[in-house]
Order: sequence, then structure tokens, then C-alpha cells
Amino acid sequence: MTRHFEYLRPETIDAAIDMKVDYGPQARFWAGGTDMMLLWQRRVVDFDYCIDLTYVPSLRYIEMEGSTLRIGAMATLDDLDLKSNLNSALAALGETARLMNTKQTRTIATVGGNLCHASPSADLTPPLIAMGTQVKLQGPEGERVIPLGDFHIGVNETALADNEIVIEFIVPHVSEQLAASYNRIARTVVDIALVSSAVCLRMDDTRTIRDAGVVLGAVGPTAIRAPNAENVLIGVSLEELANGTAQKAGAQASLAARAISDIRASQEFRTDMTSVLTERSIRRCAEILGDC
Ligand SMILES: Cc1cc2nc3c(=O)[nH]c(=O)nc-3n(C[C@H](O)[C@H](O)[C@H](O)COP(=O)(O)OP(=O)(O)OC[C@H]3O[C@@H](n4cnc5c(N)ncnc54)[C@H](O)[C@@H]3O)c2cc1C
Repeated sequence: MTRHFEYLRPETIDAAIDMKVDYGPQARFWAGGTDMMLLWQRRVVDFDYCIDLTYVPSLRYIEMEGSTLRIGAMATLDDLDLKSNLNSALAALGETARLMNTKQTRTIATVGGNLCHASPSADLTPPLIAMGTQVKLQGPEGERVIPLGDFHIGVNETALADNEIVIEFIVPHVSEQLAASYNRIARTVVDIALVSSAVCLRMDDTRTIRDAGVVLGAVGPTAIRAPNAENVLIGVSLEELANGTAQKAGAQASLAARAISDIRASQEFRTDMTSVLTERSIRRCAEILGDC
């Protein structure tokens, strides 16, 4: 049976929210459509109204405000790649983006779509949470800002209220003393992650790690923060990082994993790789910080 939906094209954030209020649960936001199209084709989702956010220019930007990085929800994965040279946070996010999809798909797939689809293996989730990112949401009642770590509440489930839209991602304290790295295992370049790990370290003027974020992907229904691994890293000198600390933190990270076995990988493989990938990410961060 042929299925139809009405295509709506707002030009402002307020107009997009008004449309969602007017058309209710039968309306869905559409960003790049790279997840939505597949879900619709497979009849996993159905909707009568498609609210295309592509023509809302105020949602597409990547900019610095002091030491705060702001990424609009409609910034594409390719935009992240193109801005890689701007600073250390974008270097890591650009590198992550280059692991995802193909170049063609990256020009339409958005940051907001990746986070809103809330797949446990979404690649941008671990590095953004590890950086301490917050997400700004807007609904008919106004704006609110929540930690990105609280945004995903289950597989493909977010904390978005009815009629709310994601506006932007806010990454704090971006400087040359920040280093981040994301590593994943996937079968092919267009595959999603079987397991992944992101690390973000911020050091102080004495070259000591002041703040650490370690976040694991695809080993639980949502990304998992590994505070025990983070505690191993905080207070450690840059030199110590390479001397056993990275390995110790990797081992702690794997204890936080809640991996399952499925047709793509076994629980044991995923858990073991969590440790390896975390260690790899820490060593990469140490290299970056060592150069600055
Ligand atoms: C061939 C292929 C390869 C892929 N490879 C990868 C990969 O390597 N890694 C990876 O993580 N993903 C991958 N994906 C998945 C997908 O491309 C990404 O998740 C992409 O970033 C989704 O963005 P989008 O703009 O296309 O989202 P859409 O499909 O438009 O939307 C996804 C969901 O988010 C909602 N949404 C979008 N924007 C907003 C907003 N601002 N506010 C509220 N809700 C919103 C939509 O309603 C929908 O529910 C792949 C997909 C394909 C088809």
C-alpha cells in the first residue's frame, strides 16, 4: 500500500515548534533523513507530517563564544570535518565524523539527528559526553539546558518532551589544554560501532590532568560513563599517563561496560575491547597534550 505524508518546510525554530504543536504526534522532525528514511521504509516509524528542518538557517552553525564551543543541531557531520582545524575539541569531533557514513552522506546527516536517534552505537555520543557537553532544547514553554549524559534514557529514547526540538550542543572549557580521542571497532567503514570508547582530558598549567571524561559506546542501552576510569586519570601528570596509568584506566573502563552478545559481537569481545580502546584513546590524548 502506498504511504503518504505531508511535507512541511519551516524557516524559523518557532515556526517548526508551532507546526509540531499543531500536528501533534503524527508529525516528525526531519533533519538529514539518513536514519528517518530507513525507519520509514522499514515501517518502524510512520507519520503524516514531515517537518523538514533543513531550511532553518539558525540551526546550522559551529562557533566559539570565548572558550565555549556551540554546535547547532543542523550542523552536518561534514561541517564538523571541515571545522576540524579550529581547535582541539573540533579536531576530535571532526576525526569522529570522518569515521561515520560516507562523504556524500556526511553532507546531509546532522549532529542533532545522530544524537536524537539515540542509538547505543551512535558515534558522536561518547566524545560529546566525555567533553562535558550540554544540550539546549526548546519547546512551546521556552528553552532548557540539560547535560547530554541525561539526554538518552534508553535505546532510541531521549528526554525530549512532546513538541521539543534540539537547538544546540554546548561544549565548555575548550582550549589547547584539552585533548579528546574516540576509537571504535566496526566491520566496514559504513558499519556502526560494535564497541567504542571516547576519552577527553583537560590538563592544568602544571601539566597535570585536572578533568577526565571516559565514555563507552555500544556496551549498554545508552552510552556509559566510567567514573572509576576517570578517577584513575585525574591528578596524574602527563608523563605518568604513558607509564601504566592508561592501562589501569582501560581496565577500570571495561568493568563499567554492560555489553551483551548479539549477531554482531560477543559480550566478551565487546568488554575486552572496551579496555583496549580506552587505553588507545588515553594514549592519543597524551600525545596531543604532549605536543602543546
Ligand atoms: C549508510 C549509513 C551509514 C551510517 N553510518 C553511521 C556511522 O558510522 N555512525 C553513526 O553513528 N551513524 C551512522 N548512520 C546513521 C545516521 O547517518 C546518523 O545517525 C546521522 O547523524 C543521523 O542524522 P540525520 O540528520 O540524518 O537524522 P534524521 O534521520 O533526520 O533524524 C533522526 C532522528 O532525530 C530526530 N531529530 C533530528 N533532528 C532533530 C532536532 N533538531 N530536534 C529533535 N529531533 C530531531 C528525527 O525526528 C529522528 O527521530 C549511518 C546511516 C546510514 C544510512
